[in-house]
Amino acid sequence: MAKIFCVANQKGGVGKTTTAVNLAAGLAQLNQRVLLADLDPQGNATMGAGINKGTLTASIYEVLLGMSDIQSVRKTSETGRFDVLPANRELAGAEVEMVELENREKRLKDAFISVADDYDFILIDCPPALSMLTLNGLCAANGVIIPMQCEYYALEGLSDLVNTIKKVHANLNPDLKIIGLLRVMFDPRMTLSQQVSEELEKHFGDKVFKTVIPRNVRLAEAPSYGMPGVTFDAASKGAQAYIAFGAEMVERIKTM
Ligand code: ATP
Ligand code: MG
Repeated sequence: MAKIFCVANQKGGVGKTTTAVNLAAGLAQLNQRVLLADLDPQGNATMGAGINKGTLTASIYEVLLGMSDIQSVRKTSETGRFDVLPANRELAGAEVEMVELENREKRLKDAFISVADDYDFILIDCPPALSMLTLNGLCAANGVIIPMQCEYYALEGLSDLVNTIKKVHANLNPDLKIIGLLRVMFDPRMTLSQQVSEELEKHFGDKVFKTVIPRNVRLAEAPSYGMPGVTFDAASKGAQAYIAFGAEMVERIKTM
């Protein structure tokens, strides 16, 4: 049965999508069966996996509203060798439309049941908000991966996310836990990066992943080719780091 992880942080532009796409590709290289669910109306994970969000006949939107099932909506990322549950702008409407529905926080969780045996990992790329969409992600997941930049304001807002996760754990999904904080866009030449990184280790201990993702331009270039950085330039430092992170996650699920 698949282990399900949300990549979440309500801050924008912190590296959620880059992490979700490259972890998916990294895990695929380690022969894991992966479904990447795009839960963001921006559709960046969809595009980054090489799937055109503009020509979708159905998307995660129909799945959430119960109009389609995952089997008929999922696509395969040819560039990443994993499956994708794609999204586009239509998903923004789901936020409002789901309010009317029964069990509205658990639509995604329920939808995953029928494909759980097809995968080792299901990764969910969350939007930059603590919204009904993110809540669906958190209710569906066994754990949360929180990407963070090692900068002065990194911790700001983290307590809101942690409190939301605690509330979901208490009321909606007793399975949910924070798997770890992932340091991303790390610049070893910056003293501040080093300092914040050390602070994170001090405060959060083993909740900080061992793998550190460096700032690497190849990771930023890859989406414009519709490819994960891991396949776009496998030798780059960024790709290597995400493959190492994949290996760390494979180890981590053995103890779950
Ligand atoms: P949003 O909140 O809008 O969904 P996000 O948290 O998903 O954003 P990304 O889209 O992954 O963040 O990253 C933001 C920007 O930073 C992108 O341009 C991406 O290419 C770039 N980026 C992410 N990680 C790295 C990295 N390790 N090195 C260099 N650039 C990176
Ligand atoms: Mg994103």
